Amino acid sequence: MSFQDKTLVCVECGDSFAFTANEQAFYAERGFTNEPKRCQTCRQSRKTQRTGGHSAGGHVSDSAGYGGQRALHTVTCSACGGEARVPFVPRGDRPVYCSDCFSQQRGSSGYSRAARY
Ligand SMILES: [Zn+2]
Ligand SMILES: [Zn+2]
Repeated sequence: MSFQDKTLVCVECGDSFAFTANEQAFYAERGFTNEPKRCQTCRQSRKTQRTGGHSAGGHVSDSAGYGGQRALHTVTCSACGGEARVPFVPRGDRPVYCSDCFSQQRGSSGYSRAARY
């Protein structure tokens, strides 16, 4: 496969920038099909803005939470080995827990209001 440098226009600042053969190879390697929309400068500044310390990647549940009408995916709990259903698509690169183990992972504080058996 050979790539050729391309010139693209940044949607942010309107400047043209090079989408180099190297970058294209890099994108192709990662399976990206979209071309970059922003020049290096704009990408850099976006990155800096986004460094918010949220990188641990918690799937913070958006509005519905458990018990909602969301599509659930059945996975194997990494802690107890039981069947677990999670409201997101498991990535396979991090452990997935059933709701019991998940709440244990988060620590038991704040759990006292939950119904007891
Ligand atoms: Zn730009
Ligand atoms: Zn479990």
